[in-house]
Amino acid sequence: MAWSERQQAMLAEMGLRVWLPRPGSLRADDDPPMPPAAREEGEAAASPTSPTSPAVAEAPTRTMTRGARATGVDTMDWPALREAVVGCTACKLCEGRRQTVFGVGNEHAHWMVVGEAPGEQEDRQGEPFVGKSGQLLDSMLRAIGLTRAPDAATRQVYIANTIKCRPPGNRNPEPDELAQCEPFLIRQVALVRPKIILAMGRFAVQSLLRSSEPIGRLRGRVHQYQGVPLIVTYHPAYLLRNLDDKAKAWDDLCLALQTAQAVA
Ligand code: SF4
Repeated sequence: MAWSERQQAMLAEMGLRVWLPRPGSLRADDDPPMPPAAREEGEAAASPTSPTSPAVAEAPTRTMTRGARATGVDTMDWPALREAVVGCTACKLCEGRRQTVFGVGNEHAHWMVVGEAPGEQEDRQGEPFVGKSGQLLDSMLRAIGLTRAPDAATRQVYIANTIKCRPPGNRNPEPDELAQCEPFLIRQVALVRPKIILAMGRFAVQSLLRSSEPIGRLRGRVHQYQGVPLIVTYHPAYLLRNLDDKAKAWDDLCLALQTAQAVA
C-alpha cells in the first residue's frame, strides 16, 4: 500500500512514523514494505506508581449525604442537565471528587467522543481528556480534521465521559456507579444528536455496548448506541503505554471517518 502525503501527514499527527524507502532503493518487482511500518515515538505515560511520576494527589474524601439522582434527566435541557450533574450524589464517587466533569465541546457536534472516567487532572480541571492523553486525543482528532476548540459543528467534537466523577485512585468504575451515571450520558447524546460516536477505552466501550468482550474483538465494525453509529477504539492513555496499537487506532479513525461520511 502506498501512503499519500495526506495520509502520512495524518499519521505524523498521531505520532506514527511511516517507513518509506529511499528513492531508488526498491526495484519495481520488490515486495513493498509492510504497512504501516510505523515505529511509535510517543512517550509512555508514567504509571501512578512509577518513581518518576508525580505523586497522585487524592482529593479529600468528604462525607456527603448520598441521595437519589435527579428525576427527569431524560427531558432536561443543557443547563438543567449540567446542574443535575454538578449536584449529583447518586453514587459514592461524589465523596472523593473535587468537581464533576460534565463534558465539553460543540453541543450540536456531528462527532461525539466518549471516554471512561475522570482522572486526577480531569478532576482538577473539570474537563475530560486533559494531560498527555488529552494531547494525544487532540492529535488523533486533528489527523481526521476535527478539533475540540471552538469551530463549526462539522469540525468541533463534543467530548464526555461515561462517568462524571473521578473514581478514587483511578480505580475501575463499579457496575452500580456506571448504572447510576449512564442516564446523564444518554441525555447528552440525545441533546447533541451526533452523527457518530467514537467510544474510547474498555469501560466506556463495554458499558455503552453492554458487552464484556475486549476491545480487540469489538473494534473494526460499526455498532449502534441510542440509534447512533458507534466506533470502538483504544483510550489515548492506553495508546501512550502500548505504542504498537496506535496503528490499530488509526484504522479505527479511518473506519469512523468512512462511517461519518456515509451517514452524511
Ligand atoms: S459518578 Fe455520576 S452518578 Fe455518581 S455521583 Fe458522580 S455524577 Fe452522580
